[in-house]
Amino acid sequence: MELVLSAEDTAFRDDVRAFLKDKLPQEIAAKAGSGFRLSKDDHVRWQKILFEKGWMAPGWPIELGGTGWTAMQKHIFDEECALAGAPMVIPFGVTMVAPVIMAFGTQAQKDRYLPRILRSDDWWCQGYSEPGSGSDLASLRTKAVRDGDHYVVTGQKTWTTLAQHADMMFTLVRTSDSGKQQEGITFLLIDMKSPGITVQPITTIDGSAEINNVFLDDVRVPVGNRIGEEGKGWTYAKYLLGHERTSIAAVGRSKAQLRRLKAIAGAEASGDGTLIDDPDFALRLAQIEIDLLALESLVLRALYAETAGKPPGPEASFLKIKGTEVQQGLTELLVEAVGPYAAPFQPEAFRQDNWNEEPVGPDYAPALAPLYFNWRKASIYGGSNEIQKNIIAKTVLGL
Ligand SMILES: Cc1cc2nc3c(=O)[nH]c(=O)nc-3n(C[C@H](O)[C@H](O)[C@H](O)COP(=O)(O)OP(=O)(O)OC[C@H]3O[C@@H](n4cnc5c(N)ncnc54)[C@H](O)[C@@H]3O)c2cc1C
Repeated sequence: MELVLSAEDTAFRDDVRAFLKDKLPQEIAAKAGSGFRLSKDDHVRWQKILFEKGWMAPGWPIELGGTGWTAMQKHIFDEECALAGAPMVIPFGVTMVAPVIMAFGTQAQKDRYLPRILRSDDWWCQGYSEPGSGSDLASLRTKAVRDGDHYVVTGQKTWTTLAQHADMMFTLVRTSDSGKQQEGITFLLIDMKSPGITVQPITTIDGSAEINNVFLDDVRVPVGNRIGEEGKGWTYAKYLLGHERTSIAAVGRSKAQLRRLKAIAGAEASGDGTLIDDPDFALRLAQIEIDLLALESLVLRALYAETAGKPPGPEASFLKIKGTEVQQGLTELLVEAVGPYAAPFQPEAFRQDNWNEEPVGPDYAPALAPLYFNWRKASIYGGSNEIQKNIIAKTVLGL
């Protein structure tokens, strides 16, 4: 089943396809499509190409650099990019901190940061979580003490995705211990080159280096880098998390993964035919495709609401849960499809620049187990799926 597009949307899709064919660097698409890790340069190069076309920030207001696309056009764009193997746009700047700056920042902050985000001049990371303060984020302890026109920040952030590349970090700090925990939190923008910051990599289960500890030791942050009012950071943080969860659904990426799964299942032998004809496997494939289509309808509904000026509410939690279940389900089926050939651990296969050995099994196999292990993260980050269920129980079902 496919969405039926209007003539206008079909023409738009053809424009997007033509742009991708012409401008998406094939070496980047090939790298992403075969599961190789992308470098910072790969991401920034692609984002600058999108900027030149005016397509870097489809969700922004037109006057700030947005595209003015309809919900359906945004959806088509995401899907076509994913199917063509374009790298995902790193969300921390353009879809996470930018809406907060637009809604709550000063004019000086908007003038400084928004154009730099649009041009990918700054790479942002998210400094929310701390050891012991993940789901219970309001218990965070990184302290910011006012000293004239600066805050002096001391503490530790953890799981900070791609902080090793970051120029800026948006972060939550504690400015007061009195009253409710949420009321003592302030939202700061921190320059990652500030003296006193140490970034320490944490290796994930698949052997990759995408998350970090960030230690802050007497880091001086100008008061002008505070978003909104002191002690109101929790309000801004919650606003941002809604945006994070809508984009986490990643329907386009899952469609690309489903296509890959079908190709592999069509190539793998099973009995007298191929795996795709195996009734048990075909049933599981159909089930996940149905889930993906249902998710797509939910995402479109949320996008239309957003276009009508309705900010993402607790429904974003549905998208987070369902989106990540589909992503993880697909990686499980991919591993099962290649059977024992997913087992050899070949981390060097991901360094395309210096790997020229024969893979054990088909060339699509080495990437699949690391992909499976890496995507276990999806039900944890962005607020774990158990926490999303609590949100739904409380705010949607009124339990
Ligand atoms: C790959 C990855 C990237 C990340 N990137 C970032 C980042 O860039 N920036 C950032 O700030 N954070 C990041 N995070 C952190 C992420 O937001 C937290 O891991 C997440 O919020 C869970 O917090 P925790 O790890 O402290 O686990 P805990 O909160 O200790 O939870 C442990 C387990 O208990 C469950 N649990 C906890 N409380 C409840 C409850 N009340 N009811 C039911 N179950 C509960 C959880 O669901 C989980 O299964 C990242 C995490 C991962 C895995």
